[in-house]
Formats: sequence, C-alpha cells, structure tokens
Amino acid sequence: MNITNIKIPVEISARHLHISKEDFEKLLGKNETLNSTKDLSQPGEFASDKLVTLVNGKNKIENVRILGPFREKSQVELSTTDAYTLKLNPFPKIRISGDLANTTKVLVKSKKASLQIPCIIAQRHLHLSKQEADKMNIKNNQKLKIQVKAQRPIIFEEVIARVSDKYKLAFHIDTDEGNSAGIFGKTFGEILR
Ligand SMILES: [Zn+2]
Repeated sequence: MNITNIKIPVEISARHLHISKEDFEKLLGKNETLNSTKDLSQPGEFASDKLVTLVNGKNKIENVRILGPFREKSQVELSTTDAYTLKLNPFPKIRISGDLANTTKVLVKSKKASLQIPCIIAQRHLHLSKQEADKMNIKNNQKLKIQVKAQRPIIFEEVIARVSDKYKLAFHIDTDEGNSAGIFGKTFGEILR
C-alpha cells in the first residue's frame, strides 16, 4: 500500500489537563466524580465536566478542562501562547505526554483547593494502532513528516509515532500549530516519505 494514499485525520488539542485520582480528590474532594461530556477520538478518552483555573501570580487562564479517565500522573498541556499568557518561568518544555522530568509546574485551582502540577507543551504526535502501524511500516517513536494542505499549507516535521492497541489513527497538534496551518473544521494530512 502506498502510504501517501492514507488520509490522516488532523486533530487540534486545546489546553487541558490529565489528572491522577489522588490529585483529583485533593483538588475537588472525594465526593466528586469525573464524568464524560464528550468522547474523544482515542478509545476510552473523554472530555470531562470538570473545569479548573491555571494561575501564575496575576496571570490566569480560566475554564481549562480536565480530560478522563484518570491517569497515573497529572499533567497540564498548554500551547506556547498559553505559556506566554501565564508568563511561566521557567518556560514549559516541549515533551511527549507523560515525560515530566524537570518540567515547570503551574498552579491549578478549583473552588476548593489548589495544587502545583507539572506542565508541558505537547510534542506533535501521530497515534496509531499496531495494525495501522504495521500496514504503514511505522515503528513506535519513529519521527515522521506530515503535510497538511489547509489554508496555509505546511509540513510538520518531528512528528512522533505513538503505537499502541489503545490508539487509533489521529495526528495531534496544539492550537498554535493548528492556527499556523490555517486549519478550520475537518482536515486530513498525509505522511511524506
Ligand atoms: Zn494525542
């Protein structure tokens, strides 16, 4: 199969946070539950009904959504623009999800409590199931180039392949990257070889 014939769905991730059950209870209390308001593309992942505020001194970003289900470790994912808005110093690192060593932390506030949580700018990545990866001859952690021909055509480099049977084909970028490519609505990319 010619890899360039496969249309890759492009999905833009807005700022959000993943949370451990322990941190969730600290932040919102033991009686609260993380309820789904919308399923996301990756199987089992959902947007929850819980919103929090990110705070750094006088700077804040409100209504940041917690995604479910609970994860082993809590992490905030921001765009570069968000990090400037909050004036985070040191600036968060561009990292693949879950890689939280030596990243900066941000204060996450609910009505009840607040908690410092590690913060990253997500490295652009391509989710694939094992079957999809085999079909396209792509290995986990391989770096790819994906071309997106939206209003401002662009080739995204250093896209990390993330292969797992928990995943399904989707190219994830943040809002800055989506805006840079002029993406509005349903958009597809193709892998360049
Ligand atoms: Zn993703």
